[in-house]
Amino acid sequence: MTSKLKDIHTEVLVVGAGAAGITSAIAAARNGAKTLLIEYNGFLGGISATLPWLGFHDRDYRQVIKGLPHEIVTKLQRMNAASDYVLDPKCSSLVSVDNHSWKVLAIQMAEEAGVEIMLHTHMVDTLRTNDRIEGVEVEHKSGRQKIYAKVTIDCTGDGDVAARGGVEWEKGRTADGLVQAPTLVFRLGGMDRDKFVAACKDKSLNYREWIAPYPELWAKLQKNLDKLDVFVLGGLAVLVEKARMAGDLDVPQTRVVGVKLHRSDQFQVVMTRVLGLDPTDVKSVSMAYSRLYAQIPQLVRFFQKYVPGGENCYLLEIAPMLGIRESRRIMGDYLLKKEDLIEGRVFEDAVAMGGYHIDIHRPKGSWVESHNVKAYTIPVRSLIAKGVEGMMMAGKCLSATHEAVASTRVIPICMAQGEAAGTAAGLAVKKGMEVRDMPVAELQQQLRKQGAEIGETLGEPNWKAIEEVGQLPMTEPPTAGDEDAVTKQEKAWIQ
Ligand SMILES: Cc1cc2nc3c(=O)[nH]c(=O)nc-3n(C[C@H](O)[C@H](O)[C@H](O)COP(=O)(O)OP(=O)(O)OC[C@H]3O[C@@H](n4cnc5c(N)ncnc54)[C@H](O)[C@@H]3O)c2cc1C
Repeated sequence: MTSKLKDIHTEVLVVGAGAAGITSAIAAARNGAKTLLIEYNGFLGGISATLPWLGFHDRDYRQVIKGLPHEIVTKLQRMNAASDYVLDPKCSSLVSVDNHSWKVLAIQMAEEAGVEIMLHTHMVDTLRTNDRIEGVEVEHKSGRQKIYAKVTIDCTGDGDVAARGGVEWEKGRTADGLVQAPTLVFRLGGMDRDKFVAACKDKSLNYREWIAPYPELWAKLQKNLDKLDVFVLGGLAVLVEKARMAGDLDVPQTRVVGVKLHRSDQFQVVMTRVLGLDPTDVKSVSMAYSRLYAQIPQLVRFFQKYVPGGENCYLLEIAPMLGIRESRRIMGDYLLKKEDLIEGRVFEDAVAMGGYHIDIHRPKGSWVESHNVKAYTIPVRSLIAKGVEGMMMAGKCLSATHEAVASTRVIPICMAQGEAAGTAAGLAVKKGMEVRDMPVAELQQQLRKQGAEIGETLGEPNWKAIEEVGQLPMTEPPTAGDEDAVTKQEKAWIQ
């Protein structure tokens, strides 16, 4: 029989150590709060430790994500573990990162900031008294334990603290509750870079469908392709179709989607997919894993047989966790909306920014739905849980609509939210106040001091980059694909 474990008391508790959780914890600790970070995996990073990072800039190629996320990138670059910022007309910018080096750095930076870390620790319940969230209950190898905190930040990506604490949340599209399709990403090694680039230059293969309708932009991208170590793919549909017709591929994805990484023979594949997943239902998640694992060998063979440069490729790594693009979104004092992003709204209580397009991987049907956005701000109210005291959120479970979260969900923007939430929590604790009552000007002043961008120093569009890289129009025609008109074949893919 195990003896009862002592309760833990901390000032700021961060639940979940993905992109948002790590930066929340570091920012809270750097601002003087006794901070505890709990995570059920055996590493820090969550999904950010499986993918390149997209969206540090806006469509005018101005850097909207600075502060702590930029510090992290700079450190990784110094470790020779990340590429430069690569500008891109659809994704604004990307940085290709060595996943394992990021895990190493994340733990090091958190410890240096004074964050206490508990790994393989699963938050299983929320401690709530009346309208105050007081912390969480966790389960780990030593048993069950209660953790009390002045501020709890939900960075689980699933809104677990909210769901167990009776805090309002929403999930998926308003009409039917369906969330974006999830993907289990994997990495290929052994790609022949030159052959692969040559295929991307073959117009008939159309490696980048977004760009194809704009000949000038296409020409610029082609010119840069030889120089680029890192570039995005969303096309080669003819090859996918050929494999499907030959009976070699049965995956609900009609394009080659992924990123050519800074390691010259590596390609990150983002093509596995299931439709109709409920990320909060264990049966649905388990079924998704078994379907996705079954798709990976098919996709590796597809690259070997159909994709130029893939002849000798091999499976290098499967991400250690399912990539869930969307789950519970916690309702906060403000709900960020699609229009706020498209209009590039500057809120008075802005604490973070974003500039990545709205990128919805269709919950049904295939391919994606996309809307370009202007550089927008995120108000602190979207980081404060509605109707309770003592609770914030950052990352995927931000208070945002299904459409808005399809932009705010990318790694750099999650990190910026985390820096804002952690800073707010740290300052509030120091002042003995509720986060909601913190003077916004003081929080913004501190964020400025930390080098974060909150919409004040962007300046003019980066004309030089616009000239060199090119720019997509703000409004593009609707993307091709099946929208929700699910084909017979796709129906079979829906869980
Ligand atoms: C397939 C896919 C491809 C993507 N591609 C890109 C890309 O190329 N570039 C990009 O920038 N963004 C990309 N994104 C988006 C981005 O990766 C994620 O939205 C972002 O990393 C989410 O960060 P987060 O911190 O909110 O959540 P997560 O990374 O999900 O972190 C949540 C953490 O909380 C932990 N946790 C959850 N519940 C509990 C609990 N109850 N107790 C304890 N711990 C818990 C989890 O283990 C995890 O570590 C992609 C997303 C997906 C799914």
